[in-house]
Amino acid sequence: MKAFQVSAPLNYRITEIDLPEAAPGEVLVRVAFAGICGSDMHIIHGDNAFVRFPRITGHEFAGITEAVGEGVEGLAIGDKVCIDPVISCGDCYPCRIGRPNVCSALEVIGVHRNGGFEERVAVPAANVHRLPEGLGLDAAALVEPYSIAANVLDRMQPLPGDRLLILGAGVIGLTILQMARALGLEEIIVSDVLDTRLATARELGATHTVNGRHEDLEARVSELTGGEGVPLIADAACVPALLPAMLRLASPAGRIGLLGFNPTPSDLVQLEVIKKELTLVGSRLNNRKFPEVLERMASGRLDPLALVSHRLPFDAMPDAIDMLDHHPERARKVLIEIDA
Ligand code: MN
Repeated sequence: MKAFQVSAPLNYRITEIDLPEAAPGEVLVRVAFAGICGSDMHIIHGDNAFVRFPRITGHEFAGITEAVGEGVEGLAIGDKVCIDPVISCGDCYPCRIGRPNVCSALEVIGVHRNGGFEERVAVPAANVHRLPEGLGLDAAALVEPYSIAANVLDRMQPLPGDRLLILGAGVIGLTILQMARALGLEEIIVSDVLDTRLATARELGATHTVNGRHEDLEARVSELTGGEGVPLIADAACVPALLPAMLRLASPAGRIGLLGFNPTPSDLVQLEVIKKELTLVGSRLNNRKFPEVLERMASGRLDPLALVSHRLPFDAMPDAIDMLDHHPERARKVLIEIDA
């Protein structure tokens, strides 16, 4: 069968490998669609400290169960499913307190073990979610990026009527925007440096957009909030240099959700945090958010296909990577048809 294998940084190709088998407790999934994520690009570039090569990447995928391993209950051959990539141990401190997405022995499908860019993948049954009636496999391949949005919003504890500022209108920024609207937040400001992305954000319901390259974001937010600042800030721009500005943009008692996997230090003024009693929260992957996202998708409150800019056949995957490397502004979510 075909698989997209990264053998070393910048060394990748579609190759033939043996068909995997479903071990006890696992399910074999025929992958229909898989989305390319920024983190796949980091792995391809060798910028992910957790990955060991060779690796078949892909953590955003959906398909049909083709075999069910020994001891698996509640799943049958032919089920339409999508896969939560977070594998946790269940025993460590974070797992014991209900935070398995930061498990001490965390493994991520598509990072620590082989993922969805292959025609068949064996995954733990515990990570498999059956699709609600009527939800397409293409949309379901995008549950994972929405789970990121659901997680960061949960970490930020929004209250009814809270204003939200989203930094970055890439795919993750847009999933946060859609999820925030589904949660009932009404005033959502989105900033980015690309007008095309901001236009998409407005189409998807942003009430205000700010191009940080041409406008003074702090002045604009101050004006929009009557000088109060925003209680909720979600950082989907992942530029550490923006952290000091976030402290200034936040209202007193504000919550700032950080998503970027960026090792660069930033200057953080402790006084700003204390004075306003800000809450800074990290958000990693998702803490069992797949059921919530699936329900919101099935009820039509999220529009995942609006994020898809390209649908490409599996063989075109190297070209897709080339495009994302050289013309990222041309793409939103690239969906690969693996064995649809
Ligand atoms: Mn992703």
